[in-house]
Amino acid sequence: SVPRPAYRRILLKLSGEALMGEDSYGINRATVERIVAEVKDVMVLGVQVAIVIGGGNIFRGVAPAAAGMDRATADYIGMLATVMNALALQDAMHRVGLPSRVQSALNIEQVAEPYIRGKAMRYLEEGKVVIFAAGTGNPFFTTDTAAALRGMEMNVDVVLKATKVDGVYTDDPMTHPDAMRYQRLTFDEAIIRNLRVMDATALTLCRDQKLPVKVFSIFKPGALKRVVMGEDEGTLVEC
Ligand code: UDP
Repeated sequence: SVPRPAYRRILLKLSGEALMGEDSYGINRATVERIVAEVKDVMVLGVQVAIVIGGGNIFRGVAPAAAGMDRATADYIGMLATVMNALALQDAMHRVGLPSRVQSALNIEQVAEPYIRGKAMRYLEEGKVVIFAAGTGNPFFTTDTAAALRGMEMNVDVVLKATKVDGVYTDDPMTHPDAMRYQRLTFDEAIIRNLRVMDATALTLCRDQKLPVKVFSIFKPGALKRVVMGEDEGTLVEC
C-alpha cells in the first residue's frame, strides 16, 4: 500500500534565520523559494500546513532592550519584523501557485488580515497555507510560544520546529563530533536538561496540552517531507 502521511495538520515554526540562508541579515530569495518548494511537497500529500514565522533575521527585541531601548518597544519592532517575513513568504508561495493567507496578531489591516481563529481553520480545510505573523501580539513572548499557542488553537497534530541542526543532540554536534541525536525525548527531560528545543514557556505550553514537537533541520533537503511521512528524522519531544 502507498505510505500515508503521519499527520493530517501541522504547524511549522520557521525562525527568521531560516530565511537568511548564507546571508548575515534579511531575506535570501533562493532560500525562501527552496523552503516554499518543501512546503509544497507536503501540501500535495494532502497535509494541512500552518506556519508561524519568526523575525530574528531582521530584529530581535532582547539585544536592543539590553542596550537601553524600552523592552516592550523593541519587542513590538520584532513583531513587525515577522510581518515582513510573512509577506515575503506569501509572495514566494504565490509565485509557485501555492494559495496562502497571512493573519497578523497585531492589527495592520492594509497589510494583512487580523488573526481570526475560525477563518484560519477554514483556510486550512480549504488547502490554503496560513502564515501567522506578529507572534502572539504581546511583548515579552517569542514566536516559539506563538507556535505552541497557534498549534493548540488550530488543533494540529504536531509542531514542527525547524532549526539549523537535524534534531536535539546530547551535546553541541558542531563542537562534539561524538554527540548523539535523540530520536525521542520527553518534555520533562528537555526542560530539566535545558536542551534547546524551544523556550521554556513554549515547551511548558506544549507539555500541558500534550502537543508533540518535532525538531528537524530545514536546511536538509527533503527533511520536512520525511518528518511528515513519519520517518526517522529529527527528534520527537512528547509527554
Ligand atoms: N516577539 C514578541 N512577541 C511575540 C513574538 C515575537 O515580542 O509573541 C518579538 C521579540 O522581540 C522577538 C522578535 O519579535 O525577539 C522576533 O521573534 P523571535 O525572536 O521569536 O524570532 P525567531 O528567533 O524565530 O526568528
